[in-house]
Amino acid sequence: MLVVMKAQATPEEVQAVCDHITQLGFRAHPMPGAQRTAVGITGNQGQIDQGNLEELSGVAEVIAVSKPYKLVSRDLKEEDTVITFPGTNATIGGRDLAVIAGPCSIETREQAFAAAEQVAAAGAQFFRGGAYKPRTSPYAFQGLGEEALKIMVEIRERYGLRIVTEAIDTEALELVDHYADVIQIGARNMQNYSLLKAAGRKRKPVLLKRGLAATLEEFLMAAEYVMSEGNYQVILCERGIRTFADHTRNTLDLSIVPAVQRLSHLPIIVDPSHGTGKRNKVIPLARAAVAVGADGLIVEVHHAPDKALSDGAQSIYPEQFVQLMDECSQIATVLRRNIPHGIE
Ligand code: PEP
Ligand code: MN
Repeated sequence: MLVVMKAQATPEEVQAVCDHITQLGFRAHPMPGAQRTAVGITGNQGQIDQGNLEELSGVAEVIAVSKPYKLVSRDLKEEDTVITFPGTNATIGGRDLAVIAGPCSIETREQAFAAAEQVAAAGAQFFRGGAYKPRTSPYAFQGLGEEALKIMVEIRERYGLRIVTEAIDTEALELVDHYADVIQIGARNMQNYSLLKAAGRKRKPVLLKRGLAATLEEFLMAAEYVMSEGNYQVILCERGIRTFADHTRNTLDLSIVPAVQRLSHLPIIVDPSHGTGKRNKVIPLARAAVAVGADGLIVEVHHAPDKALSDGAQSIYPEQFVQLMDECSQIATVLRRNIPHGIE
C-alpha cells in the first residue's frame, strides 16, 4: 500500500500519517520527492485498513501496489535515488557516474596504497578492496579482516577516496559498517535474507551485487529486504551471471540496466571485472556499461596483477585504468553525463 500525500502537505501531516501506520503495527517509509511525498507501508500481518488512511489530513490518495517489490519501485518514488557522501562531491545515481576501483583483496599495506595512489590519480572517487573474501576454496586467501579495514581507513585519510568493502556475514557487517563508507553484499549472499535485513538496519549505503543466477525480480526483492528495514540507500550492481558460455567467467547482462531503470528508482552500476573474468574484456565492457546508461562502474585494479592473491586474471593494470577512465568519460558526454575527475 502506498499513501500519496498532497503536493502541499506539511512535514507534520506526513509525520501524522507515519505515526498512524506505526500504531496499526505496520512500518511507514516516507519517500520525499520534488513533486510529492509518498509513504510506503510494509508489514507481514495482512492488509492495513485503507479507509482510515484516506481520511487523514494531507493525504491525496491511497494506492495498492500490486508488484511484489514496493519500496524499490518507481511507483513509490518517481525520481531517481541519488546517494550522497557528506563532505565530498561524490554521488551515486545522479548525472555524475560513480567509479569504484581498487584491488580484489587488500593483501598488504604497500599493495593497497600502490593501487589507491594510482586509482586516485586517474580520477576515481571510491576505493574498493576486500577484507573478507568469499573464496571458492577454503584454502585460498580469505582476506586480512579488520587489519584490511584499518588500511582502507588510512587510504581514505590520505586520498579522500570513499571506501567500499564486502561484509560476508553479520559479524563482518558490524566492522564494515564501523570502518567503511559503503557496505558491499556479494553475489553469493544476494539471497542471504538475514544478512540483507541486518544491512537494512545500518545507515550506510549498501552495494548489492546480483546473485550468480538471480532473475531481475529476485534481484529487486533482495533490495526490498534491505529497504524494508529502513535503509533506503541501496546501489544495485550487475556483475555477470552463470551461463553456458565458456569464453568468459560470467555473462555480463547489460540489458538488466535499462530494465532496472524502468522499474526502480535505485542506482545501478556494473562490474566488468567479475562480469568477464578476463583482463582484456574489462575495458570494452566498461565502455558498453557506460553506453547502456549505468550509473557507475566497479573495477578491479592491481599494480602487479600476476602476483595478486585473488582475481589477478581479471585485474587491470593502473595504465589500463587511466585508459578506461578516459574512454568512459568520452562516452558519458554523449549521454550528457559526466565522470568527475577526483574527489573534492
Ligand atoms: C568482489 O567484488 O571481489 C566479489 C567477490 O564480487 P562478487 O560477489 O560479485 O563475486
Ligand atoms: Mn574479486
